[in-house]
Amino acid sequence: PTPLMAGKKGLIMGVANDRSIAWGIAKAAHAQGAELAFSFQGEALEKRVRPLAASVGSDIVLPCDVSTEESIDQMFDALKAKWGKLDFIVHAIGYSDKEQLRGRYADTTLDNFLNTMHISVFSFTSVARRAADMMPDGGSMLTLTYYGAERVMPHYNVMGVAKAALEASVRYLAVDLGKQNIRVNSLSAGPMKTLAASGIGDFRYILKWNEYNSPLKRNVTLEDVGGSGLYLLSDLSSGVSGECHHVDCGYHVVGMKAVDAPDI
Ligand code: NAD
Repeated sequence: PTPLMAGKKGLIMGVANDRSIAWGIAKAAHAQGAELAFSFQGEALEKRVRPLAASVGSDIVLPCDVSTEESIDQMFDALKAKWGKLDFIVHAIGYSDKEQLRGRYADTTLDNFLNTMHISVFSFTSVARRAADMMPDGGSMLTLTYYGAERVMPHYNVMGVAKAALEASVRYLAVDLGKQNIRVNSLSAGPMKTLAASGIGDFRYILKWNEYNSPLKRNVTLEDVGGSGLYLLSDLSSGVSGECHHVDCGYHVVGMKAVDAPDI
């Protein structure tokens, strides 16, 4: 049989290291024959991303800091010079001042609110518009979100508000880009030990809580997220758009602490 992603080209944004969610999805797409390009933020990360890209046969590794439109434009110009067209993108980027990923949401500052929204929400819209111009045959776009968008989670604070806006922007983009046969979805991952997550207060407690209380009684792995990401990027999900797909071992259906959950 032909591999699911044979002949498809995709841009992966948000690999920082081999624990990144973006990397889990990149590996799964590569295993099914996708050709990949990567973007990285800042020179320090380039050293980590280049060897990872090489290990999946990619030498298209481009700088992009989504905090400026110029940087996004430059990255797309460079990508266009290499590839005429694009079939999918993965946006796995989020940022907030870690001093405000603890304590009260009520104390969020204006500066951090705006910056969190810029990097974690607007960047997806900005990237989606440019990527759509490279998708004459349609395509699939995927961003990463968290259940803290739907329910209040300790310490998630302004990031939860940003993820709610990101999920809403997925729905609006799905309608705008659907006419071009471009699908837009989000993947709501359970908590995972990554660089970004290390900024969240009491993260070890959150991991334990999810492990003890999710229907599957464990936390998600990069393989879990990779497999579901692959489904959303591939033609297997050809009828799916505007969706928020939970990959959280079922945690989002649970109404209260499991009676047999140990104390943490
Ligand atoms: P990660 O630290 O591996 O990835 C975050 C990425 O965001 C990094 O590659 C970083 O370089 C990039 N980034 C931040 N600011 C940027 C900027 N200005 N320009 C370009 N890139 C920038 O952590 P991760 O957990 O894999 O995060 C990926 C996505 O998954 C994020 O949107 C995060 O909110 C989301 N998510 C994470 C979890 C979790 O528990 N780890 C759960 C659900 C959703």
